[in-house]
Amino acid sequence: MGLMDPLTELPGVGPKRAEQLATLGLTRVGELLFYFPFRYDDLQVKDLAEAADQEKITLKGVVVAPPVVTRFGARKNRLNLKLQVAHAVVLVTFFNQPWLKDKFEEGTEAAVYGKWDAKRHTMTGMKVLATQTADAPSLAGIYPVNKHVRQSTLVELVRAAYDREAATMGNVVPAALRTRFRLLPDAAIVHGMHFPESSAEAKAARRSAIFREFFLFECQIQALREDNASPANGLAIPYDNTALRALIQTLPFELTAAQKRVVNEICADMRAPQHMNRLLQGDVGSGKTIVAAIVMYAAITARYQAALMVPTEVLAEQHFAKLTQLFADFPVELALLTGSTSAAARRPILAGLKTGAIDLVIGTHALIQKAVDYANLGLVVIDEQHRFGVNQRRVLQEKGLRPDLLAMTATPIPRTLAITAYGEMDVSNITELPKGRQPITTTWVRKNQLGGAMSRVRSELAAGHQVFAITPLIAESEKIDLQNAEQLSEQLSQALAGQAKVALLHGQMKPAEKEAIMRAFAANEIQLLVSTTVVEVGVDVPNATVMMIFDADRFGLAQLHQLRGRVGRGQAAAYCILIADPKNETGVARMETMVQTTDGFKLAEKDLALRGAGDIFGDKQSGLPEFKVADPVADYPTLTAAQQSAAALFKQDPTLSAAEYGPLRAYLALRQQETGQLD
Ligand code: ADP
Ligand code: MG
Repeated sequence: MGLMDPLTELPGVGPKRAEQLATLGLTRVGELLFYFPFRYDDLQVKDLAEAADQEKITLKGVVVAPPVVTRFGARKNRLNLKLQVAHAVVLVTFFNQPWLKDKFEEGTEAAVYGKWDAKRHTMTGMKVLATQTADAPSLAGIYPVNKHVRQSTLVELVRAAYDREAATMGNVVPAALRTRFRLLPDAAIVHGMHFPESSAEAKAARRSAIFREFFLFECQIQALREDNASPANGLAIPYDNTALRALIQTLPFELTAAQKRVVNEICADMRAPQHMNRLLQGDVGSGKTIVAAIVMYAAITARYQAALMVPTEVLAEQHFAKLTQLFADFPVELALLTGSTSAAARRPILAGLKTGAIDLVIGTHALIQKAVDYANLGLVVIDEQHRFGVNQRRVLQEKGLRPDLLAMTATPIPRTLAITAYGEMDVSNITELPKGRQPITTTWVRKNQLGGAMSRVRSELAAGHQVFAITPLIAESEKIDLQNAEQLSEQLSQALAGQAKVALLHGQMKPAEKEAIMRAFAANEIQLLVSTTVVEVGVDVPNATVMMIFDADRFGLAQLHQLRGRVGRGQAAAYCILIADPKNETGVARMETMVQTTDGFKLAEKDLALRGAGDIFGDKQSGLPEFKVADPVADYPTLTAAQQSAAALFKQDPTLSAAEYGPLRAYLALRQQETGQLD
């Protein structure tokens, strides 16, 4: 017995069924027990006088006439059933389930679950229930399932697992915390979430389950922090301050106060023997790249290697060109390594990284692959990408490396969510833009007002500037999207004939084609770029002053803000034109927010308010963790309590050595093992 047992230990689960359950992410008994329903159907028999219109209720009564199936058309039919409930006769109709007829026999009892129509005093049937419901639970859990696993299978298996484990189940939340926050033990949570006998029991179980989920998450973060804090896992990088100053002296501008502050924060971390795991947040254009360059140079002055990892090849090339220029007069050997680096070019680079002849390498994910060996990697910087997972860190550790990590993002996380999102990281914020930045004027027009907006496009083109036109992936099929983009490109090309060369960049192009177009745009051989792909637009084209975004309401605010940041990088004033006919008030509010707000942090907070945490957390791009029962915004006070409890626990017993913490320790060890698997 035990929660770690594979599901094949349960009766009726063979290899085949185990495979099916694995499609739901279920492989262990414990995972099954904590695979909770996402809602409940109320199977309690209701007094009809109390039932509200359209409420889903259970009726129990006697079948007073043989059920009748009426067919209309080839596929459509309905089954009418007359049930005597107390003193009334109720008509229950099931649509398109003629086989249910055999379940009812005149003169016998029947129980059905369905939607009550209070005006007509009828019900649309949804389910037939067993009549001996006396010992059946009154709330039936509805589980997230797929085509491989049925609801009923899941219910049976959960029941079997519960019967097997309930008596011996340990608790991951320590007793003192359970007492303090009045929380149920794990076995009671499992019972109340799966088989509640009353809504009070379901509610109590849910409350405890929410704390439990947050607590486990926060404990994982604490464990990571412990890991980071140990000098055995980190590096001290004794950089040369004088050399660093010399580099900063050569910059064509003065660093902003915020840039200086974050350089100091990062450098202090690097000098300390602990592992650095730091997030650098700063709005688009706030100058993160130069901060990265300075701290990478710091590592190099201490004879370490540094790596800069970016999401796309074009971006890698651009960073490579910029940094080559920046370090022209400094003793820094640079290399560019991406998926499309030829085998012949790759060989000397791999050799240089292995011997230490190369100090700074810029590239895509290719940088941390198995075949790449480093002599002395001291710092990894990740630009505009999701968090550097425990996975990748482990890949490096297996090579005997434990570099400091700096992740950079222009998608600020609202402060309220930061402790969950980046809990194991320290955060540095660049809170101001360089002086003299031209503000970007944002306007929102409806599709039929596009003509007016085009005059701005024309005048900017006439002034020698360039224009982005972004169109999202909207249609179900990529084909239609491409047609839309091609049409748009064609229309703009005609409208601006003689004024601008228009080109189209889309996601289905080969990388080489995309890059050729991006390069031509950067070189001003193309003046208006229509693009369906957003990532490639991450490149720097200071001469571009207009960002048109078609169907802007289809993008998230953070994404719109990112796109907007692609202009306004040069000396001239810049414009962002949102073209959208939002379908609801939220859409209108989002467009208005974009027009009014240019501060990325404020925007993130508003995005949260408009979309709700559920949407943001569910969004894979956000990089935020997903919770099953808990909601980080609605349950924020619980999150805070769980965070403080976990921190206090680790402070008092950093290795969780007390016997009582056994189940918690086992859980954390398992999670660490799982996330440690190489991808
Ligand atoms: P981010 O990566 O944060 O979006 P970048 O690092 O690309 O921003 O910087 C945007 C532009 O601002 C670059 O052209 C960069 O050279 C310039 N820049 C950076 N810091 C300063 C500064 N302190 N003063 C003036 N310009 C700066
Ligand atoms: Mg950048």
